[in-house]
Amino acid sequence: MLLIKNGRLLDPASGTDAPRDVLLDGERIAAVAPPGQLAERASGAEIFDAVNLVVAPGFIDLHCHLREPGAESSETIETGTLAAARGGFTAVCPMPNTRPVNDNASVTRAILERAAEASGVRLWPIGAASAGSKGEALAEIAAMKGAGIVAVSDDGRPIATAKLLRQVMDYCRALELPVIDHCEDSSLFAGAVMREGKQSVRLGLRGMPAAAESLAVARDVQIAELTGCRLHIAHLSARASLDLVRAAKEKDLPVTCEVTPHHFTLTDEDVQYDTRYKMNPPLASREDRDALIAGLADGTVDAIATDHAPHEPALKDVEFDRAPFGVTGFETALALGLEVVHAGKLSLLRMVELLTLGPARVLGMKRRIAEGEPADLTVFSTEHAWTFRVEESASKSRNSPFDGRNFRGAPMATIVAGRIVYRRGLVTGDS
Ligand SMILES: [Zn+2]
Ligand SMILES: [Zn+2]
Repeated sequence: MLLIKNGRLLDPASGTDAPRDVLLDGERIAAVAPPGQLAERASGAEIFDAVNLVVAPGFIDLHCHLREPGAESSETIETGTLAAARGGFTAVCPMPNTRPVNDNASVTRAILERAAEASGVRLWPIGAASAGSKGEALAEIAAMKGAGIVAVSDDGRPIATAKLLRQVMDYCRALELPVIDHCEDSSLFAGAVMREGKQSVRLGLRGMPAAAESLAVARDVQIAELTGCRLHIAHLSARASLDLVRAAKEKDLPVTCEVTPHHFTLTDEDVQYDTRYKMNPPLASREDRDALIAGLADGTVDAIATDHAPHEPALKDVEFDRAPFGVTGFETALALGLEVVHAGKLSLLRMVELLTLGPARVLGMKRRIAEGEPADLTVFSTEHAWTFRVEESASKSRNSPFDGRNFRGAPMATIVAGRIVYRRGLVTGDS
């Protein structure tokens, strides 16, 4: 047994924000009670003193890339989930664009077997929508569901055509799987490397307009309406896209979306010729960034997702035009969310919802701290001062634009199935 005592419990499902002790017994939560009341029941239990700390449901990341199988020099399931644990994540959803692509049950099973040997963070894989994510024939979606996928996506690229999307959605509606789309009308931006705007002109880099995203969102929302399938928009970055999601929700369509920490923190003005600022979708305008923050606060955005996209240093250490898209994200996600909270633009309870109940709902799951629920918890500080040093990251990759950034607030413990899989201060290099 493990007793987490003296913490401030934040549970978005019940709206609880109060001092509570939480007793874990094996893989389940055994009891939740005001401070001191569980002492007798917990006699002999290991004690975790969470004084001055927040106790939240375990964080879920709907969107990451772990690179295994096929690109283990950039990340493995072991290093990726270690970084996730250090970021407070108890479950992560790896995208299927590995080599081979996760488009059939044998790849799904192999990924889950590797995860079982790794850090203890739960892996909830996302299967490809089309075979090889090539946008032609359907992937083996039903068999992958049997093997454990929680959603489908061709991330790395959009689901190629409206016709294919309709087929995928008809299929996934029957299987009760959400379809996650990387929304992008590629015909609008061949060769683009950043957002189109004043800064792309200033830097002489080819830009893609915000409409490249929102055009695809408009298509997807209409196919979701046609099929009744759940649609989740990945890494939404533009105000116009957010407006479409808001309108879809007003019509009660099954449409949800996620926003990444880098998109709600940085803008295209931060882009120089530094490849750590190159990702897809690219960093957006200041107006878009401010709209994303408003969407986090008002409920239009359902989840904060990292789109953790490791690339080994040699791949990113090239000219801006030639570098692959993507930045790492697990270890800085909570601290970047807390920056918005400290700025007074997002409530702490709502931020916790965006990392817990929000992503769970996208997957059709629950997330709450109550007797009988899985013992997955994230304990964090809102005040702990620290500096992110990318060379100390658990990830194999170093492509973060937040190296050297000073933060206020950090994950202190990550608990999965009643077991502490990460505790701050016990890992070399942590402060
Ligand atoms: Zn994507
Ligand atoms: Zn991605």
